[in-house]
Amino acid sequence: MSEQQGIKPYVIGLDLGGTNAVFGIVDQRGDIKATTAIKTQQYDTAEAFIEASVCALQPIIEQVGGMEKIKAMGIGAPNGNYYKGTIEIAPNIKWAHDCVVPIAQMFSEKLEGIPVAVTNDANAAAIGEMVYGVARGMKNFIVITLGTGVGSGIVANGQLIYGCDGFAGELGHITMVRGEEGRLCGCGRKGCLETYCSATGVARTAREMLAKSNRPSLLREINPEDITSLDVSIAAGKGDELAKEIYEFTGHMLGEACADFATFCSPEAFIFFGGMAKAGELIFDPIKKAYNEHVMPVYKGKAQFLVSGLDGASAAVLGASAIGWEVQ
Ligand SMILES: [Zn+2]
Repeated sequence: MSEQQGIKPYVIGLDLGGTNAVFGIVDQRGDIKATTAIKTQQYDTAEAFIEASVCALQPIIEQVGGMEKIKAMGIGAPNGNYYKGTIEIAPNIKWAHDCVVPIAQMFSEKLEGIPVAVTNDANAAAIGEMVYGVARGMKNFIVITLGTGVGSGIVANGQLIYGCDGFAGELGHITMVRGEEGRLCGCGRKGCLETYCSATGVARTAREMLAKSNRPSLLREINPEDITSLDVSIAAGKGDELAKEIYEFTGHMLGEACADFATFCSPEAFIFFGGMAKAGELIFDPIKKAYNEHVMPVYKGKAQFLVSGLDGASAAVLGASAIGWEVQ
């Protein structure tokens, strides 16, 4: 720990989601000292959002001893650009869906000029794992976030890969199914990994499998349009065969994708983050099986498959705060 960090022992983390903006003040061990939250969509402009954020932050900053204790701020946000400190054309945030918001600079100006860094949520998760989680000490790993979408953060040779424009590492949008059969993705292309392995992808697989046969399943008790990935997980937990097959299909797709990912950065671990990662062997068994079937022999047996080491409820805030330690 440098002398400066000794005097300024905390960073602010902001997990900016489509619904909630959650703030935490975090120390170097990853202990969250105070939290607060506001509604992301309640504001029409970025200025109004920042104003409300700073208001909400004041009391928790006081709680830890004031701004002189805060080293920096890290923000994990959809379409966050690390190089520019911006959020760019983020479809799910109304004050950023059609423009470029210089969010890092805007927060810095309101918070006594502290350094502020921003990146997308999956990259924040990757740094969070490296700073506080299961990737401590690792230099080559890939974090795959399984949520509404499928995101990824790639660390190679000890560094997060940002690419030429700050947007590298969108492994959720590699093509798994080519041609017309591929499911249409939010990115405008067809057959992306995300359309199969996100929460919405799993729900869609459930609807397709239910429609294909008359096999009995607990999922038939639910209106097909209302089925969520959580319903699939609950049914699988009760031993429902069809629900288990949905996990097998999803895990197989992920394992096959990971086998391809191994070719470009030979990771020592794939770390899964998000609700579905908690399904344990239901999802990990098919992932590992498909990985071993598809990976090039030279990579065989080298990668571990791990669940995120960050505490579920606060993982995204911790991830965001972790980039605060990196920024100068
Ligand atoms: Zn896509």
